[in-house]
Amino acid sequence: MSILQNNVLEPMGPTALAPFFDDPEEGLEKIFGFSSFRPGQREVIDQIASGRNALVVMPTGSGKSLCYQLAGALTQGVTLVVSPLIALMKDQVDGLRATGLPATAIHSSMSRDEQRRRIEGMYLGDYKVVYVAPERFQSAAFCRALEDVEIGLFAVDEAHCISQWGHDFRPAYRRLAAVRERFGDPQTVALTATATERVRRDIGEQLGIGEDEEILGPLERRNLYFDVFFAGGKDDKLRRIKALVEDYAGESIIVYVATRKQVAQVTSKLATMGVNAEGYHGGMPGKGRRQIQESWMSGQTDVLVATNAFGMGVDKPDVRAVVHYNIPGSVEAYYQEAGRAGRDGEPARCLLLFNRSDLRVHHWFAENAFPLRMQVIRIWLHLCSLGPGPHEYTPKELARAARGPGQKLPPRMAEASLRHLARAGHIRYGGGSVEVLHEVGPLELNIDFSAFADLSITAKEQLGQIVTYANTQRCYQATLLDHFDSSPSFGARCGNCGRCRELRA
Ligand code: ADP
Ligand code: MG
Repeated sequence: MSILQNNVLEPMGPTALAPFFDDPEEGLEKIFGFSSFRPGQREVIDQIASGRNALVVMPTGSGKSLCYQLAGALTQGVTLVVSPLIALMKDQVDGLRATGLPATAIHSSMSRDEQRRRIEGMYLGDYKVVYVAPERFQSAAFCRALEDVEIGLFAVDEAHCISQWGHDFRPAYRRLAAVRERFGDPQTVALTATATERVRRDIGEQLGIGEDEEILGPLERRNLYFDVFFAGGKDDKLRRIKALVEDYAGESIIVYVATRKQVAQVTSKLATMGVNAEGYHGGMPGKGRRQIQESWMSGQTDVLVATNAFGMGVDKPDVRAVVHYNIPGSVEAYYQEAGRAGRDGEPARCLLLFNRSDLRVHHWFAENAFPLRMQVIRIWLHLCSLGPGPHEYTPKELARAARGPGQKLPPRMAEASLRHLARAGHIRYGGGSVEVLHEVGPLELNIDFSAFADLSITAKEQLGQIVTYANTQRCYQATLLDHFDSSPSFGARCGNCGRCRELRA
């Protein structure tokens, strides 16, 4: 039942629903205290102010939040912001509160009562900007309650998560198309740091944003020095990292590795070489993980060895180097992760360590990442039959227990099934235990099996593209920008990468 159905609540007097300003410059100064726009921001705000939608692709750190926050302040109604991480929302909300733009967040880690109070507040015009996690829209009651709210602007942050062709697909983002329709197609702005043409069109089609409404900011990062090091093997890689760490004594570095196992291995190897390093991955318990993150954020730890679970929403401006110990799965993933270096605009390095044998892991993954529908369903039904609470398992045991008579269910497919179930929000798993979050019938699983074949092919294509990058004879940064159809202001050569230096020499 809608919380507002039996109470007739009428907004009274002036509320946050009215526009705060007419003039963007005034808003920029009064809300944010900035004297000028960064490149691209004004264009985005003007386009929204003119009543159009926008798909914004601008690099990390370029100030995308301000675009929808300020546009929201200039618009009638509430700006509803979809954001993937609770930690990210908290930072943004605290920031806005400090500026005097009334903002809040609604997410699963607050009580139902608190969520309801905030939705009521939205209706009453207490907030101008409200952050929600995409998972919130899975609640029918939540959607119903929002129907009574005047949504002036629908902002989708990290919008590449909407696309299966992107590098960080989140099934909960899939619902946003339906959500948007339900709210009467509100004016929409989608924002991301990296999106190929295919991903941009996918976002646009789902959120009703036209090709002519795309705003592609300059993606180049002049302060980043891109390089590729062809490593003979592990020891070679570690030596290279050690040399880099010595160049940046006491400064912050991220080393991305491919697997959780490698996090432990590389961290301990580096530690024995005298490097001040700690490891981080998504399977670690929340508390320890937070401590490790904080210790790195505050500069106590120099080198963070992490899987790609680390990074989104981590806004550390003075990262001096991002090293990829293994080749990542796509150029998008690489540019996003490497781009976490040098957000302060000071010189920083992005180093890819390349060894052909690393490709095997990716190929294996592309072959084994997509289980058959029947296999996933078997696993799911078995997990549901275990009852509530976390259960200990090994993939082997799980595969044996779940497989039907005469059926094949290799442990690697059991693992892959768990990954898909976790990604779709049906289970939580890690560290040898698995927990069903909410039981649904096998046909209600939020997994798009029909896309699996295509995804497997795409994964191989994307890997081919990053391998091409690693082996390019051209300017590294120009090659990366090409991939995103972004033309660099520097022309064919950035003058500041491993290749440009060779060409100069
Ligand atoms: P993005 O989402 O594009 O990665 P953010 O929105 O997090 O970037 O902004 C990065 C930083 O830039 C923030 O600290 C923000 O306050 C700052 N910033 C944004 N716009 C401006 C501006 N016009 N002038 C000065 N600083 C700005
Ligand atoms: Mg952002």
